[in-house]
Amino acid sequence: MNTRVTASFVLSVLLAAGPAAFAGETTAGQAASPPAPVVKVSAPLPPQKPALGEDKEPAKQLFSHVELPSLGKAMAIGYYPRGCLQGGVELPVDGPNWQVMRISRNRNWGHPELVKFLERFAPLAAKATGWNGIMVGDMAQPRGGPLPYGHLSHQIGLDVDIWFMPMPDHRLSKEERDNLSASNLVAADLKHVDPKTWTPADIAFIRTAAEQPEVERVLVNAAIKKELCRVEDKKSDGWMDKVRPWYGHNDHIHVRLKCPADSPNCRKQPPVPGSDGCSAKELDYWFTDNVLHPRITEPKHPPKPLTLADLPPACKTVLDAPANPKAVER
Ligand SMILES: [Zn+2]
Repeated sequence: MNTRVTASFVLSVLLAAGPAAFAGETTAGQAASPPAPVVKVSAPLPPQKPALGEDKEPAKQLFSHVELPSLGKAMAIGYYPRGCLQGGVELPVDGPNWQVMRISRNRNWGHPELVKFLERFAPLAAKATGWNGIMVGDMAQPRGGPLPYGHLSHQIGLDVDIWFMPMPDHRLSKEERDNLSASNLVAADLKHVDPKTWTPADIAFIRTAAEQPEVERVLVNAAIKKELCRVEDKKSDGWMDKVRPWYGHNDHIHVRLKCPADSPNCRKQPPVPGSDGCSAKELDYWFTDNVLHPRITEPKHPPKPLTLADLPPACKTVLDAPANPKAVER
């Protein structure tokens, strides 16, 4: 009696079973005669997470589980809060003028332009501030993509957080890098900088970042922007235009680079409005009660997490691509 055996894992079959064996089937009744060598035929492995299917699973799960960058030409794909990174490169965790913080998050990856920017910016910032160097926070995951916590953007390898804190004169341990916190420069009223932590070096730090031509935006807390407007007042030569207020950012700047020339699928952010951002019209919103003290309520319809289908189609290719073997050797 013929019993069809179909299995989705490696099957042992008998050559003597006839052509059907090669299609992944065997006829149990003929198994014993004549004796024949046993061969293994590979059948497709079952999907590792069969519950949802890749297209429906939150993309942050898929991207945060990949530990190495994809093989392929470096390319920022999509938009800062909706995309991914092909051919990402790693910023070494220590440089002459920088240390990478939170190493355990494995977010010190970016488009090569971002790594080049940081290698160039670190000594410039050190010189401008008198600091030993800079403390680099989150960049992107090895293949970019949505992150399971911490940021909406940082997806295409062109965003980096840099702390408001001078680099110490010694190399921090891995534990220190995971546990130390940056300085909060904003006072408890959320309307002013904190005179206990705010220093002129912080202005030099922000200014040096905003002056770099490849920088698209520098995001800081509104109280910090307001202080810059107060002290810089019309003498900024354009760099102040790029410094914009955003939620949080009281202990770090967020530097965003322009789309690099090698990334045709990188979507540009609309340019800043061509003002220094210091008008009451632009600033006042940030100091309204709703923004300073938002009511925390559970949203009735929480936003659905991004899936692979929400990202540019090339991001599936990036996710499925083999790892860059050079990155394995690091
Ligand atoms: Zn950021």
